[in-house]
Amino acid sequence: MTQAQETPDTADAAGSAQPVCRRLVGRSAVITGGGGGIGLATARRLAAEGARVVVADVDEKAGRAAADEVGGLFMRTDVTDAEQVEALFAAAKEAYGSVDVAFNNAGISPPEDDSILTTGIDAWRRVQEVNLTSVYLCCKAALPYMREQGRGSIINTASFVAVMGAATSQISYTASKGGVLALSRELGVQFAREGIRVNALCPGPVDTPLLRELFAKDPERARRRLVHVPVGRFARADEIAAAVAFLASDDASFVTAAQFLVDGGISGAYVTPE
Ligand code: NAD
Repeated sequence: MTQAQETPDTADAAGSAQPVCRRLVGRSAVITGGGGGIGLATARRLAAEGARVVVADVDEKAGRAAADEVGGLFMRTDVTDAEQVEALFAAAKEAYGSVDVAFNNAGISPPEDDSILTTGIDAWRRVQEVNLTSVYLCCKAALPYMREQGRGSIINTASFVAVMGAATSQISYTASKGGVLALSRELGVQFAREGIRVNALCPGPVDTPLLRELFAKDPERARRRLVHVPVGRFARADEIAAAVAFLASDDASFVTAAQFLVDGGISGAYVTPE
């Protein structure tokens, strides 16, 4: 057991009733889209595990609030902009001396991205830029630091829709997440012998305020989806954050190039419980 693992913390920083262990003491973590949703929950969880966190977001107010809450650094970053992404990882190195964890998580799913029959090229391109090109840029910026250290964990947020089809299509979103999955696998293989792990996190649907609002207005829409979830509910953001913390830590030392599903059983299901 390492020193970092010895000291369980009973503080409830992840928002769950579970005690949090301290696997990330001495590690720095860059989190894109850290101002809200899964990113915010992960900033809280990684900080609770001892990491020094850099929150990157286009939303300055939310990003700064998240960074302040976890005693981290905020960098206003548009993840589609190569120069801003390079500056983000340089700032992490400058502030904390290393880039140990990159959680490339920022993503969008706008309503204009729908069936292929109605989705225009501008909506297609925008989603590809924010969801997929950003992950290419973030990995490209993080890898030189990790190669120099001979150590690092990259976690790219894909989705369960990268491995399953939906009749309720968001075509560019799905294609972008398939791209994130393939890119992560390839990098995981390429850099495996340099001490760098790269995994694609594939969350199932998460109970975010946006989703709740949408489904409160349209219960039939929620029912159509929930019937496919064996666990019978959507995920909480802190449950996804717990998986990120595992992948970030040395507990996942033999996990790389994986499609890491955290989906309540959706992708394994044929007939779900009544
Ligand atoms: P969210 O909208 O709650 O948070 C996303 C954050 O990314 C926001 O703070 C936003 O300001 C930021 N962001 C958006 N565009 C950006 C840009 N260009 N540069 C920097 N930051 C930007 O979303 P979420 O639900 O927490 O989703 C996070 C990731 O998880 C996304 O990649 C999403 O596709 C994926 N995901 C979400 C779900 C779900 O059900 N919520 C399921 C599977 C995968």
